[in-house]
Amino acid sequence: MLDYDLHCHSTVSDGLLSPAELVARAAGRGVRFLALTDHDDVAGLPEAAAAAAQHGMQLINGVEISVSWRSHTLHIVGLHIDPASEPLAEGLHAIRNGRGARAQLMAESLARCGIGGALEGAYRYAANPSIIGRAHFARFLVESGHARDVRSVFKNYLVKGKPGYVAHQWAALPDAVGWIRASGGVAVLAHPGRYTAGRKKMGSTTLRELLREFADLGGQGIEVVSGAHTPEQYAEFARYAQEFGLLASCGSDFHGPGESYRDLGCLPDFPMGCRPVWQAWETAPTQDKVL
Ligand code: AMP
Ligand code: MN
Ligand code: MN
Ligand code: MN
Repeated sequence: MLDYDLHCHSTVSDGLLSPAELVARAAGRGVRFLALTDHDDVAGLPEAAAAAAQHGMQLINGVEISVSWRSHTLHIVGLHIDPASEPLAEGLHAIRNGRGARAQLMAESLARCGIGGALEGAYRYAANPSIIGRAHFARFLVESGHARDVRSVFKNYLVKGKPGYVAHQWAALPDAVGWIRASGGVAVLAHPGRYTAGRKKMGSTTLRELLREFADLGGQGIEVVSGAHTPEQYAEFARYAQEFGLLASCGSDFHGPGESYRDLGCLPDFPMGCRPVWQAWETAPTQDKVL
C-alpha cells in the first residue's frame, strides 16, 4: 500500500471538503504525503499546509491544469510547484477567467432543454465561484431531480452531444507544462485512462503521440495508479511510463465522500519496474535527484 496520495480536490475547486477537512481525512486514512491538486487554482494550499503540519503529514503543493490538446481536454497535474511563481499564477488566473462565460453558456444550453435556474443553482455549490465547473452543475442537476447521482449526470448531461455541454478552449499543453516546470514543479499527465474521443477511448496511436509531445515539452510523469483506473490500467500505463521514460504517479482524485470511486489514500503499490514520481523531489540516500 502506498502512503502517498498525489491527486485530490477541496472546496477551492470542485471537492466537497475544505482543505483542512481533506487533510484530516487523509491523515486518518494513513496518508503521509498528500498533494492537494485543485483545478486551476492554488488558493487552498496555505490552509492545507497548516493542517498538514498539525497532523505530522507532508503536504506537496499541487494543481491540476485544464488543457486543450487537439480535440481533447486533458488534465496536467503539477506537483511540488511553487504557487507564488508568476507565470503559473498568471496562467491559472487566465484559465479561471474563462470559466464564468462558459458557465453562462452551459446554463443557456440547459435552459433550451427546459432546465431553468442552472446558473444560480450551480453557483450555490461553488464555494470558490471563480472555479465554477461541471461538477457544480452536476450537483444542481441531482438536487433538481434530473439525475440520481453525480456520476449518472455525466451520462446524459454536460458531455459532448448532451445538454449543458459547451466546447471550451483551455490552456495550451506547452504553456501548462512550461508554467509547472518554471515554478520548479513536475508535470504529470493525469488519469490517462479517462480520455476519450467521442465515446471511444483515446487510441494508442494518439496516446503515444501525446506522450511523445508531453515528454519532449518537459513532462516527466504519468498517473499509473489513479482512482479513475482499473487494475488492468495500472499495468497498461506502467508500460507506457517505461516506454516513454516517465515517472509513475498515484492519486485517488478524491472529490468527496459518496461522490468518488475511491476514498483518499489506500492506493495499491505500483506495478514492478515503475519509478515513483517522488524520486524527482526526494533524494534517497543512494539515489541522485532525477530532475
Ligand atoms: P470542468 O473542469 O468544469 O470541465 O469539470 C471537470 C470535472 O467534472 C472533473 O474534474 C470531475 O470532477 C467532474 N467529472 C467529469 N466527468 C465526470 C464523470 N464521468 N463522473 C463524475 N465526475 C465527472
Ligand atoms: Mn473535478
Ligand atoms: Mn482530472
Ligand atoms: Mn482531479
